[in-house]
Amino acid sequence: MARAQSRYVCQSCGASVLRWEGQCRTCGEWNTLVETVVRETPRANSRSVVTAGADPVPLTHAGEADAEVRRPVGIGELDRVLGGGLVAGSLVLLGGEPGIGKSTLLLQVAAGVAAAGGEILYATGEESATQVRLRASRLGLTGAPVGDAIRVVAETGVGRITELARGARPALLVVDSVQTVASEELDGPPGSVGQVREATLRLMELAKADDIPVVLVGHVTKDGTLAGPKTLEHLVDVVLAIEGDRTGGLRLLRASKNRYGSTEEVGVFEMGDRGLTEVADPARAFLAEHDAPAPGSVVAPILEGSRPLLVEVQALVAPTSAPSPRRTASGVDPNRLALLVAVLGRRAGIALGSHDVYANLAGGLSVTEPGLDLPLALALASSLRDRPLVAGTVAIGEVGLLGELRGVGGLDRRLREAARLGFSRAVVPRSRGRGDSRLPGLDLVEVGSLADAIRVSLAGALT
Ligand SMILES: [Zn+2]
Repeated sequence: MARAQSRYVCQSCGASVLRWEGQCRTCGEWNTLVETVVRETPRANSRSVVTAGADPVPLTHAGEADAEVRRPVGIGELDRVLGGGLVAGSLVLLGGEPGIGKSTLLLQVAAGVAAAGGEILYATGEESATQVRLRASRLGLTGAPVGDAIRVVAETGVGRITELARGARPALLVVDSVQTVASEELDGPPGSVGQVREATLRLMELAKADDIPVVLVGHVTKDGTLAGPKTLEHLVDVVLAIEGDRTGGLRLLRASKNRYGSTEEVGVFEMGDRGLTEVADPARAFLAEHDAPAPGSVVAPILEGSRPLLVEVQALVAPTSAPSPRRTASGVDPNRLALLVAVLGRRAGIALGSHDVYANLAGGLSVTEPGLDLPLALALASSLRDRPLVAGTVAIGEVGLLGELRGVGGLDRRLREAARLGFSRAVVPRSRGRGDSRLPGLDLVEVGSLADAIRVSLAGALT
């Protein structure tokens, strides 16, 4: 039975009942009833950026009065992703797998804000205050004045956390994590859909009303989605995600949503003893080191936002007698992999129908851009033929169903970066009307089809 001030609301159709039930009686959906606090005035509008009763203003002057106040956090790569710093009154969700470095990054952010003279309230439900201090001291962040400006509280009641923040008016409130905080008004356990949603709404209200930037930590489940309600990402202003291979050192920080800036920029970090440090040369950070060119390995100049990165696509194909061979993709789109296997077989004479296929990106990266088609296809062909690519080669391009190649955006920027990092040959789709984009030291090989690309790319005798 719900408490007097709570109801169970169907997330599918909005029907509201007093008791939890497995199936919604109104729409018939299963497991959609979520405990929700009943309010006189619905708070759903709190995420509206529109002020009631505003007068129309000329477009040229619109919004001038409420230009955002940004506070740089002192970590260049993070400020870059945020679009210049934390905006006052914004609610930021930082997601990532357990152990990837979320708490570490946030302690560093807290230290950055503290170093600029701000006070921080750090509410931890994941670890005790002692554990937070030990972590901070490992990172070398406990010295005065920084260590004194960060106030830690081990607290999971969202009411108490907002009360403390209203009293202390910190320059930043960190809540680690949204899955551990809970409201007294609901019966559900911390981490339940209702609790996560309610806690987020309460913190959003605090951020907006008191102009305090709030950063929430959110855990990510095995399948890569944020644990908790799907609506969580819609409620907050900014969604950041840390990716990377937990066992490796590299981390990529991305914004999948940013109400105050671009979602195009990525930050590249390296995890070490002193926490996350910025990488001196991000473009080459994700390249694996090889003594000699290896079959199944292709370097691709991808574009993450405005930043060119060189990544290594790796593929392994192995004969199998299983009726349905494996297609395993990590960091690349499994649907694209399946499609490329089909196109290779029909249009390029690379038959993989009786082979297991594995493909991944070095460094734990995950990339969805279509330009990865050609390098992935070349890696598969290279592995099947057991022949490496011609040394010093990069490749980029989208592959069509007919085996034709299509161009990608920002080719010049990608190639310039490849040339800078010492690559001498680029296999790219043929295109008309490209200006003079030849770069000194880079041999541009333009091809029209996947079959041609394979022919010019693999080292050794012609196929
Ligand atoms: Zn329903």
